[in-house]
Amino acid sequence: MIPRSRAGWQAELGRAVTSPAELLKILDLDAALLSPAVRAAQTFPLCVPRGFVQRMESGNPNDPLLRQVLPLGAELVPQPATFSADPVGDLDAAARPGLLHKYHGRALLIATGACAIHCRYCFRRHFPYGDHTQGRLSWETGLAHVRADPSIHEVILSGGDPLLLDDGRLKGLVDAIGALPHVRRLRIHTRLPVVLPERVTPALAELLGQVRFNHPVIVLHVNHANEIDARVRHGCAILKAAGVTLLNQSVLLRGVNDNADTLVSLSESLFDAGVLPYYLHLLDRVAGAAHFEVPEDKALQIHECLRTRLPGYLLPRLVRDAPGAAAKYPPAPC
Ligand SMILES: *Cc1c(COP(=O)(O)O)cnc(C)c1O
Ligand code: SF4
Repeated sequence: MIPRSRAGWQAELGRAVTSPAELLKILDLDAALLSPAVRAAQTFPLCVPRGFVQRMESGNPNDPLLRQVLPLGAELVPQPATFSADPVGDLDAAARPGLLHKYHGRALLIATGACAIHCRYCFRRHFPYGDHTQGRLSWETGLAHVRADPSIHEVILSGGDPLLLDDGRLKGLVDAIGALPHVRRLRIHTRLPVVLPERVTPALAELLGQVRFNHPVIVLHVNHANEIDARVRHGCAILKAAGVTLLNQSVLLRGVNDNADTLVSLSESLFDAGVLPYYLHLLDRVAGAAHFEVPEDKALQIHECLRTRLPGYLLPRLVRDAPGAAAKYPPAPC
């Protein structure tokens, strides 16, 4: 049998850097970082596409993009008691395997467990994806839940990264959602147009342009303006031309974007790419990510500063995702 030729983006994904030694070498970084990186990668492997590595500054161990992906010894030190394996209560919210129904009117379908990049602060770094993604079968049970509940007006594809599905599988899924008459909106949470912009092909744009939903929403995940280069802007333009509404969520991360200048510049770069800021998340307290936490009072201060420096439409909402809460709420002012 002749193997089906892989699309360019899949080949690019296959070339992602997964070896800490190679990442340090490409970026000309101190070999002392290697041993902790190797140890931390045993819990949650390193994975970063080469195009994303190219946006990092060589020789800078504090590069804001590098910090998002480089495994550190800090992940292995004992974590504060408030940091757990399932900080946002996802396991309780699983109405069916692979479907989280936590908020009124919206259900989140785990389309795949895989990601093109492994973000060290990811709240799903311990999530037992294996139990929740048996491919089509689990979509069927998740979709059955949506079909049976007419109050669900929006389906969110999340993961992992739903755009890692190939076009055929993605189309099968969005068509199945489109066939549920009470679902009015489709949303996709994805980091791929940023970390692997090759994924944004004319075929993907056509697929998204043809769904039953008027303005399919894509919520990107960008934390720093350096993540947005010409290729990313080009992909965003293709998606917008297909009628997609583009929003962005960021996580407030110590050493990455925890100051007003960086976040102002992020909002402005997002706008230049045709993307509106949506959420600025406080870190979910996931074990292994304590070193990324920005204290709430500092987060509020930074956000107040953003409020005075940005037009209202470029100000992301500062929120925390608390287990059992009916929505993502802002932290209470101190
Ligand atoms: C974040 C999230 C949503 C979407 O929340 P919005 O406030 O509508 O962006 C929906 N379901 C789950 C389980 C979520 O974690
Ligand atoms: S892309 Fe999203 S789901 Fe995947 S590792 Fe990063 S934060 Fe987690």
